[in-house]
Amino acid sequence: MKRHAWFPQFAIVVIVVLGIATVLHARVVQDTADAVRDSMRFDVSWIGAHGRIEAAQLEAYLARYAAMGRQADADRAELFYQILLGRLDSWNVGGYKEFLESSPESQQAYEELQRLLVSIEPAMTDLQQASSISTVLDTLEPVGAMIEKIGAEATISAVTKAAAIRQTLTEKQAIQHYLVVAALLSAGIMLIVSAFQNRNLRRAHAEVRRAADTFAYLAHHDPLTGLPNRTAFPDADQPATRDERLTAVVVIDLDGFKLINDTWGHMFGDKLLIAAARRLEDVVSTGSGHVVARLGGDEFAALLHVRDQSKAETMAQRMLEALKRPFDIEGSSVTISATAGIATTANAIQNARELLADADLAQSEAKAHRKGSVAIYDEALRETVERRLKLENDLRCAVGRDEITPHYQIQVDIGTGAVVGVEALARWHHPQLGPISPAEFIPIAEASGQIVDIGKYMIACACRDALRLPPDVQVAVNLSVIQIMQGEVMEATADALMAAGLPPERLKLEVTESVMMADAKQPIAVLSELRYLGVSLALDDFGTGYSSLSYLTKFHWDEIKIDRAFLQNLDTDSVGLSVIEAVLVLARKTGAKVVVEGVETQEQMELLRGTGCDIGQGYFLGKPAPIDLVCAQIREINPSRPARLHHMAQKNRHDRSSR
Ligand code: C2E
Ligand code: CA
Ligand code: CA
Repeated sequence: MKRHAWFPQFAIVVIVVLGIATVLHARVVQDTADAVRDSMRFDVSWIGAHGRIEAAQLEAYLARYAAMGRQADADRAELFYQILLGRLDSWNVGGYKEFLESSPESQQAYEELQRLLVSIEPAMTDLQQASSISTVLDTLEPVGAMIEKIGAEATISAVTKAAAIRQTLTEKQAIQHYLVVAALLSAGIMLIVSAFQNRNLRRAHAEVRRAADTFAYLAHHDPLTGLPNRTAFPDADQPATRDERLTAVVVIDLDGFKLINDTWGHMFGDKLLIAAARRLEDVVSTGSGHVVARLGGDEFAALLHVRDQSKAETMAQRMLEALKRPFDIEGSSVTISATAGIATTANAIQNARELLADADLAQSEAKAHRKGSVAIYDEALRETVERRLKLENDLRCAVGRDEITPHYQIQVDIGTGAVVGVEALARWHHPQLGPISPAEFIPIAEASGQIVDIGKYMIACACRDALRLPPDVQVAVNLSVIQIMQGEVMEATADALMAAGLPPERLKLEVTESVMMADAKQPIAVLSELRYLGVSLALDDFGTGYSSLSYLTKFHWDEIKIDRAFLQNLDTDSVGLSVIEAVLVLARKTGAKVVVEGVETQEQMELLRGTGCDIGQGYFLGKPAPIDLVCAQIREINPSRPARLHHMAQKNRHDRSSR
């Protein structure tokens, strides 16, 4: 647009030129008219001629009167005398006067002429006298020549003036001509430039329209994949047909896409997203009123019209299957999985935006619990999520309000029956919802980061409460992977030990395998520092999740806690026992003790004793309880260990049968 900025100036110049031409032209036309008028005024040559004829007539009639004495001739002579006088008077006005004034000689002749004619006036009134006639004739004698002389001068003057006027006219005509040409040229240039400008304007207009179209497109499309974006998604909804009563929204989120981006770079990630978008489009034939959109990042959504919910589920499964096939990108083959959430409605009024939110909720739930799966939104799910949000919110002030307290569960030496340790387990008593299991609130606290404060608090409580236990009883506290990754745990532990005045060897920290799963350098560094501090370290929940025997040897553990899952079918299934025995062998080699969790029966206890396991923990031995109760429990067991253990076992069996 900028390149046409000269046009207004140009138009102004042309208009000014045209204006000047018009004014000049008007002036020239006026000048021409003046010149023509002058030419007429100055054509005085013929005026003098009349005077000459009248003077001759006067003389002729006077001569005839003198010769023949006829009164009629005297009258005629008198008439021509009067005419001649009038003629002379008429010379003294207008163009002839101007001429006379311009020529001193003629003026002088004119005045002489007048004097002569006036001088004969007395004689003219007395023509009967012969002397009068001769006086008049004598006086008139030079008059003809004088009139002729003035006439000749007038003719010369008129001719000169006419030539000058003709010259002026010619010049004015030339100027007029140039002005007309200039006006025509300016108008022509103006026309051409306008046409050019018009074309430019049309182009600019087209450009603006194209830009507007592009903007509109970008506002509703994802530039990377070309799919509709989140804004456009709900608008894309179309009325369902009679056969396909349900509107379904499937939200799909790629699993571990961030890792791919971080490892392979964003360009690679972009290509993967484009390829994923094409696969989703292939599964969902978008021609049939279905829509695939990219919501942002690695999140996609499909809007489907389906017969029933199972059809929506099938479609979602097919989309996940399609994404699971290896992608060939930049010569590398990558595989990726995805998690889906579905929300459906038969109610045409419910808009796609709400469905999208519901499907998104289902998706994030699925992602939290089972990556790669398809979850369907329902009311229960909303309640779960709402409860979680409430817990997350209330958890913020739970520590401050003393709603979280530790319970302790004893750990017993399987050989001697003595209590050798307790495990601190967090308990949350919610003011409205009552007791909340750590299995529920710990993951929430981990996700929101509040686990750091809770963990710190638990370590402090455990160190303080440990002082109430016999000096040979260790207290174990669970550490979350988040605490370890944040790196504050070292300081928190040291502070708690100092504040309580507890010897470090009485504290044991339990971490799960997931700690080892993460980038191994950071956790191992933190764990080594903790070990350096003097606290013991236990590998918790061994055998669940992503078990790897290498975790046993990667770090020097003081204790390995075998998950209670291995104890569950010990009576019928010998595999669990074999695993315990295998772990035992490895543990012996690394100098770690083996703790078996979830001991619920006497039989399990006997079997474990047979394997040579070191320590047992479970409801059969003691349930988690407040510190006072645990102190009492330990006092009861430890003084006379074997007898007490036997007594406890019997008591537990009795408890269960009476339940
Ligand atoms: P965990 O560390 O494996 O703790 C053992 C869990 O097993 C406890 O559940 C305990 O009550 C339960 N348990 C003990 N004996 C038996 C038995 O004989 N049978 C059965 N079925 N269960 C038994 P709890 O207290 O609900 O804790 C659940 C999980 O919450 C813990 O698993 C631990 O991972 C986590 N947790 C609890 N307190 C804390 C804490 O202060 N910090 C962190 N980071 N995590 C904690
Ligand atoms: Ca534990
Ligand atoms: Ca455990």
